[in-house]
Amino acid sequence: MPLRIALIAHDNKKNTMVELAREFAPFLSRCELCATGTTGGRLANEVGLRVERMLSGPMGGDLQIGARLAIGGLDGIIFLRDPMTPQPHEPDINALVRASDVHDVPCATNLSTARLMLAQWCAQESA
Ligand code: PGA
Repeated sequence: MPLRIALIAHDNKKNTMVELAREFAPFLSRCELCATGTTGGRLANEVGLRVERMLSGPMGGDLQIGARLAIGGLDGIIFLRDPMTPQPHEPDINALVRASDVHDVPCATNLSTARLMLAQWCAQESA
């Protein structure tokens, strides 16, 4: 069964997310992907990935992804947060990260951790 991965990037991290997704595009194209609205649009348009687009983050996209996670619908989250900019949907962001801890689902909130997770998934796939 393909891995089910959610991708979210705050505005200052969207270019980083696109670059990361380009690097791992062959692997990600074999996964079942969902993303918040704007992030998903960029991944589809600029990387060519097939991505289910949820609402934009500030409109509830993080909550949609959190709800999916809570019912066992996700294997991991790559969530490139911007720690330097206040976000209007901070409570939603906290709820999503909390849900990942409650359900023990891997959640990478920075680039280095995201790389480790993706590398590990790639290694598992070829094992
Ligand atoms: P977006 O949402 O991908 O729709 O921008 C992410 C966010 O900013 O929370």
